[in-house]
Amino acid sequence: MGKNAENLLAPSGKPQEDELKLRPRTLEEFIGQEKIKEKLLIYIEAAKSRGEPLDHCLLYGPPGLGKTTIAGIIAHEMNGQLRVTTGPALERPGDLAAILTNLQPNDVLFIDEIHRLSSVVEEVLYPGMEDYHLDIIVGKGPMARNIRLQLPPFTLIGATTRLGLLTSPLRSRFGIVEQLTLYRPEELAKIAIRGAAVLGVKITEEGALTIGKRSRGTPRIALRLLKRVRDVAQVKNCHIIDGTLAETALEMLGIDYMGLDESDRKYLKVMINLFNGGPVGLTTLAAALNEEPQTIEDIYEPFLIQLGLVEKTPRGRRATVKSYKYLGIELNTSVWEQEQLDLEG
Ligand code: ADP
Repeated sequence: MGKNAENLLAPSGKPQEDELKLRPRTLEEFIGQEKIKEKLLIYIEAAKSRGEPLDHCLLYGPPGLGKTTIAGIIAHEMNGQLRVTTGPALERPGDLAAILTNLQPNDVLFIDEIHRLSSVVEEVLYPGMEDYHLDIIVGKGPMARNIRLQLPPFTLIGATTRLGLLTSPLRSRFGIVEQLTLYRPEELAKIAIRGAAVLGVKITEEGALTIGKRSRGTPRIALRLLKRVRDVAQVKNCHIIDGTLAETALEMLGIDYMGLDESDRKYLKVMINLFNGGPVGLTTLAAALNEEPQTIEDIYEPFLIQLGLVEKTPRGRRATVKSYKYLGIELNTSVWEQEQLDLEG
């Protein structure tokens, strides 16, 4: 993840203690993503009544939307343990074999960034997913023997930011495939209220909604902003986070009324000033911003597109009229209209 993006999302790694307390443990505590919750409730109940593990699930969507949290909830509901790993951490087949052979019945194995599994590791995973066995080769050359180990029934939960990067044999082995979408400000406000209760700080509905509106549709960001606003409240000796305090604190952090921060403004300015508003290709834009293309696609763009500030066209990204207005930059309409015609043609 690029250095600018670190402002937006916590780097992945070991969750902090606070983070663990903030994670909802049950589907009832999990706010938003109603359709997914509804389906999961049914699938979990059905699997439990059959005495089988839940079918393997693939969750996709931008980071910070609750994929790991859902995996934890499924493990809890299925009375199993959650084991967490990532695609790049499983370098050799042996790494995956070690994890699979240590699973207990009903455990949930969560593989984040599953699109980054190497093909040799994927091969080991297929029989494990299909009928819970593991084929390993012992010895070398003519003496090599294939040994088949039986694994306990388990559920694999794969998470990825982009479904298109998964190989089709892997994708087809998931019985449940769900996309997590950006949250609405009111849902994020509820998440902030729940978070405030866990952290022991008081917040008004207006204060929570101010945070919710500026969290890029992402619970992880809502909780981060809540913590920063709490710091300001503490220093200013305020006992409750209200709308005005939340607004002041967020302005101090450089997050404006639309929820955009300095990195987003830089993205839009580079697109408009350097590339005439686009269309510009992802790699060119990433090089100009000194960021990884994946960071731009996963972290900046979903929110900018949702706000209608940027659009994707077959020739690349372009800034919309709304983003010129937002930045207060005059738009040369004749050039704009010509380009629009070119695009349509
Ligand atoms: P992902 O795995 O998609 O990157 P996480 O599951 O790690 O996201 O969630 C990021 C943070 O947001 C966690 O602290 C989690 O507690 C919180 N969170 C995510 N979704 C929700 C939700 N729907 N309700 C409450 N908190 C949530």
